Amino acid sequence: MNNYKTKEQKLKFYKSKAWKQLRLVALERDNNECQQCKANGVYHKAEDVDHVKEIENYPQLALDINNLRCLCKRCHNAKHDRFVKRESKWNDERW
Ligand SMILES: [Zn+2]
Repeated sequence: MNNYKTKEQKLKFYKSKAWKQLRLVALERDNNECQQCKANGVYHKAEDVDHVKEIENYPQLALDINNLRCLCKRCHNAKHDRFVKRESKWNDERW
């Protein structure tokens, strides 16, 4: 079982042939459409493939297509920055 706890491990995973192939399959499945925007009734081209359950916590789902969804950059960033943004709403100081 692979682990994806460190930045190096994740980087290695995202550079792997297996991931690059699977992400293309996911994009095709989702018609290159951002699934988050789609849920909001908006069309946006997908640019990233996101793990619904983070590989850090669910390494066994890293290459499970059912754990993947296509997102545009904006939605993807929003997902991963969501806690930071919630904080900065009340505190604009950079840290
Ligand atoms: Zn989107």
